[in-house]
Amino acid sequence: MYPQFITYLLQYIKFQERIIFALMSIILGKSVARGLYDEPIDKPYRKLEVDQMPIIETLEKLDFKKLLDDYQDKHDKPLRPVIRRKNSVVKVPANLTCPKCSAPSDYLYANNGDKGQYQCKVCTCLFSKKNRFLKEAVLKCPHCLKTLERIKERKDFRVYKCKNNACSFYKRKLNQMTKEEKKRFKQDPQAFKIRYIFREFHLDFDPLAKDSPVKPKVDLSRIYVSPHTLGLILTYYVNYGLSARKTAALMFDVHSVKVSHQTILNYANSVALITKPFVDYYPYDLSNSFCGDETYIRVKGRWHYLFFFFDAVKKIILSYPVSPHRDTPSAIKAISDVLAKFKDIPEDLKFVVDGNPIYILAQHYFAQKGIHFDVHKVIGLTNDDPVSKEYRPLKQIIERLNRTFKGNYRATTGFGSQEGSVSYVTLFVAYFNFLRPHASLENQVPVVIPELKRMPNMPERWTKLIELSQEYLVDQQSA
Ligand SMILES: [Zn+2]
Ligand SMILES: [Zn+2]
Repeated sequence: MYPQFITYLLQYIKFQERIIFALMSIILGKSVARGLYDEPIDKPYRKLEVDQMPIIETLEKLDFKKLLDDYQDKHDKPLRPVIRRKNSVVKVPANLTCPKCSAPSDYLYANNGDKGQYQCKVCTCLFSKKNRFLKEAVLKCPHCLKTLERIKERKDFRVYKCKNNACSFYKRKLNQMTKEEKKRFKQDPQAFKIRYIFREFHLDFDPLAKDSPVKPKVDLSRIYVSPHTLGLILTYYVNYGLSARKTAALMFDVHSVKVSHQTILNYANSVALITKPFVDYYPYDLSNSFCGDETYIRVKGRWHYLFFFFDAVKKIILSYPVSPHRDTPSAIKAISDVLAKFKDIPEDLKFVVDGNPIYILAQHYFAQKGIHFDVHKVIGLTNDDPVSKEYRPLKQIIERLNRTFKGNYRATTGFGSQEGSVSYVTLFVAYFNFLRPHASLENQVPVVIPELKRMPNMPERWTKLIELSQEYLVDQQSA
């Protein structure tokens, strides 16, 4: 009797809340009421002007062996390694080589060593340990071909600027200004962006690194319910988006199984860890067209962004990183997770996103690494603005995905940790890709696995999916 009463009470309170919210919306306007109820505020992203890619000139690579031979021929004696004073304070690291000709450390002078600058005796190239890779390329303005100047260093990127006053980009921008703007420009030149700018992102992760799946340290045999019960719990918690508390109440009221909401969260976490490698490394059959968006997820009382990219044709979710920031590194990570799914990256790869400039910056980042794809910005893809007929179906998919996900996460009232939220998102993706039929796929699931299809009901499908995930991990271990 008791749990039923609580459930009823909770539902009543929820109902009351909805009425209050509706009333406040009418009185105060939706956004204010939303703030009171701590809904994520749909902050507009920074409208940043992203200029086209610079011209990247890679420095010619030289071969120190050939240079040493040439020296020998010309001078009739070999070029000797650098003689070092015995008590020299500055040491040249033994594994350091010249970035231009690959000469070993024996040929490197510590120019002003403590500041980290070196010079190569073989090819005379100057470099520092920090920017030794950077020095391999020179960035030039695409409008005037002058070398760009590095003007700022940020945590994740460096800003380059074309300072050439004769640059066509600069001149055009100046000419486009109205009289008013010119006046303001004189007083506050910082407020205007009139010069060509390039942001070079440097991240400490290796995009497209095909790291092998990590075997999770969880043991499902420590779950004290039958596989079928676990399948039931997951069905309520993930498919129907019930909170852990409601799932626990339902398990007791309907199935007479006593299980605490914390235990349900622990189970969800364990299952997520086991299914994640299967979800991430499944050999998906993909199209060349992907759609990306960000949605909100609450972690430790703060709103985070969930970036997701999915195959626009096959409706498969391929990446789902969670980040506290809506920034370029997160966009790069999300796209990288998609690219890692390909054996060979298709030539006509296309990403459809909203107007957020972070995706263009990500595109530049990958272009620098020799990976090219189209970014198609569709204004209005994720808001109420009208969108062209061509992209209306995509807009609908995003909205549906958002709705499905939001409907589910709302009930979970946020997560106590980043791991908790990642666990839930992982289970959601497993459900979305392998278990949830889509009307647009003729009521098929996006990825049809015959073993799952054969199962009579959803709890059995979850059980089978866990089994397949475990088998996958075992195969990986023995491979
Ligand atoms: Zn050299
Ligand atoms: Zn220029």
